[in-house]
Amino acid sequence: MKTVYVDNNATTQVDPRVFEAMLPYLKDLYANPSSMYRFAGEVSKGLEKARRQVASLLGADPDEIVFTSCGTESDNTAIRAAIQAFPERRHILTTRVEHPAIKNLFEHLAKKGWRVTFVPVDSKGHLDLDILYRNLIPETAVVSVMWANNETGVVFPVEEIAREVKERGILFHTDAVQAAGKIPIDMKKVPADMLSLSGHKLHAPKGVGILYVRKGTPFAPLLIGGHQEHGRRGGTENVASIVALGKACELAQGHLDEENTRVRRLRNRLEEGLLERIPRAIVHGDRENRLPNTVSIGFEGVEGEAILLMMDEFGICASSGSACTSGSLEPSHVLRAMGVPFSHVHGSIRFSLSRFNTEGDIDFILEKLPPIIARLRELSPYWKTRGGRRTCNSQIMSAL
Ligand code: PLP
Repeated sequence: MKTVYVDNNATTQVDPRVFEAMLPYLKDLYANPSSMYRFAGEVSKGLEKARRQVASLLGADPDEIVFTSCGTESDNTAIRAAIQAFPERRHILTTRVEHPAIKNLFEHLAKKGWRVTFVPVDSKGHLDLDILYRNLIPETAVVSVMWANNETGVVFPVEEIAREVKERGILFHTDAVQAAGKIPIDMKKVPADMLSLSGHKLHAPKGVGILYVRKGTPFAPLLIGGHQEHGRRGGTENVASIVALGKACELAQGHLDEENTRVRRLRNRLEEGLLERIPRAIVHGDRENRLPNTVSIGFEGVEGEAILLMMDEFGICASSGSACTSGSLEPSHVLRAMGVPFSHVHGSIRFSLSRFNTEGDIDFILEKLPPIIARLRELSPYWKTRGGRRTCNSQIMSAL
């Protein structure tokens, strides 16, 4: 069975050119880059080339790039470094729609005694900037606002927010895990202090990320150990994956135009095709101000997990807007924050494309999905009555 992979905000296929670039570092170039001999110097050269490639994608200086193990580590390092730099400031601010790497960290810090502001969004997924700016106070240690949302693709005005936050002498971090490689990022224009990026979202392997730290930003490592990364992250570098990330960033830079033309066109064709063929479907979030590869769409009266299971029968891989665990539904915090009605939250599916998707993939989804939704609606007492709802499991069981 063929696989139609449209879940690229979850993870991406390693680009074959990235795979080729990392191979020598898994085989022959195995020395520890910190060692003194020339053999190690060869390895270290690969590491430093990768640093330059990442810096170039971000419009940054190579010295401002710290290699980490993933986006989550980068997010945690940034926030913990900031609160350590200003121990007397006990207020921190973020948004209601962050990825759990930030959301759960801020909730954890709230339990530890920090006062946390979670800025709300409107029905289009736009941040309430009045509330954000009103809550920037002398006690604020750090503000973290994602560049683009992983579920809806909505892009936040990070340049403007960073400027306002910096004018008040507060540290600013942005989680750019979903934005990097999909839309241009230029740290010369955006005065953020720190930025997180993850390799496996832009066609590098899992287990590598970076934290950008602007020169002069107060910083403390999360992993205390050896002198690697100029003392900013202890632990022997994952050289092969770092080389892969460097290559992936170089390729992403070359593919930015394609993301905004071919990938965007495919996404739009998928979105418009589904809206035409399936009644009572809505797109979540601002359709203009959005990543070119992402669409989150809610189908009234059906459950996301049932849709995913039925699409899986055809090899279509996507994500739902809720997690169906232990017979209970946990609707997406992002869609809830946007006030999406429950009837649509539960039937929400996120499609996220990449440069590897084709017109044929879109044709296939447009052929298979409408009958799946129609079949699930036939089985749904909600759809018949527009009244009460069945449980997640019951609809999945009857769909199979
Ligand atoms: N931040 C955002 C916006 C994400 O979408 C993700 C992953 O989905 C992460 C952080 C976490 O990245 P990683 O899986 O590399 O830890």
